[in-house]
Amino acid sequence: MKIAVFSTKPYDQQFLQAANTSSDHEFVFFEQRLTRDTSALAADFPGVCVFVNDQLDADVVEALAHQGTRLIALRCAGFNNVDLMAAKQHQLTVVRVPAYSPYAVAEHTLGMILALNRQLYRSYTRIREGNFALDGLLGFDVYGRTIGIIGTGQIGVNVARIMKGIGCEILAYDPMPNPACDEFGVRYVALTELLSRSDIVTLHCPLMPETYHIINAETIQLMKPGVMLINTSRGALLDTSDVIVALKDGHIGYLGLDVYEEEQDLFFENLSNKVLQDDVFARLLTFPNVLITGHQAFFTREALERIASTTVANITSFEQGEALPNKVSTKHLAK
Ligand code: NAD
Repeated sequence: MKIAVFSTKPYDQQFLQAANTSSDHEFVFFEQRLTRDTSALAADFPGVCVFVNDQLDADVVEALAHQGTRLIALRCAGFNNVDLMAAKQHQLTVVRVPAYSPYAVAEHTLGMILALNRQLYRSYTRIREGNFALDGLLGFDVYGRTIGIIGTGQIGVNVARIMKGIGCEILAYDPMPNPACDEFGVRYVALTELLSRSDIVTLHCPLMPETYHIINAETIQLMKPGVMLINTSRGALLDTSDVIVALKDGHIGYLGLDVYEEEQDLFFENLSNKVLQDDVFARLLTFPNVLITGHQAFFTREALERIASTTVANITSFEQGEALPNKVSTKHLAK
């Protein structure tokens, strides 16, 4: 099947081609993101393959359908960037890679917690400048602390497993509790209790209308002063402006972000020779207790292999009219 692959980086090309050796899909790679301006590139391709910051809003979905596209193959788990109602209306099938490596994102979450707590990013630069003073680097024992996990699917359960190993008390909030969490002593509580009792709050739920800005001025006020907040899920789970206010007054003591509300204009590109235009992001960069990574939590060799092999299998199943276990439909919006 002929597939237009958008937002391609050299590593996407390498892993997709390796996974395609026993199939005969024809991948045409575009570096551009899929947007209203670039949708014409997909003309006459029965399939498009996209990533987290491609924009498949109603207009783009309609344009794709009119150009003959029938399949949208996401190379990611999240599907918040696809207008599923429009896809249904235009009879486009949407498939995703639901669980390529929950370990990768869970381990990155742990990395952020430890790096923020002990300010490893500051130690690194200090030591290289010959500054061996410890002032400002005081951390806390993570052992015995309470961690609140919002969303206990594939990734959240692995965060629970890791944090149990460290000796944390684990609280969770999820409208659909995961029985796999029982093994790790997770206690499901209401969101308000989780927020008021946790020393560390970490987000692992999808971005949906119900979770948009789930962390805002009101919910931040429920959190412990000095709380550590980690978001490796989707940027718009946080109201970034409210978070900045709470960082300024110290209510949020540590912030770890792998995702950002407006990341589509920043992440995955080398912009080091350009002037940063996003003033909110620029403000975040000024805090010593904020650690930002550029949507790299998924980025392990194992995850890229799994993304590529599942994407190829999804396309093959669609082409051959087989069952599609990784299909995303409007039913997912109701979850
Ligand atoms: P998943 O579907 O396995 O789990 C999501 C969980 O969130 C489910 O248990 C669901 O019941 C729960 N949930 C739904 N609505 C909720 C709500 N209102 N409050 C609390 N929980 C709710 O997904 P996953 O594989 O664990 O991934 C979680 C998210 O992580 C994805 O949606 C994606 O946005 C993000 N992600 C980020 C990266 C990265 O590189 N940073 C990589 C993969 C996934």
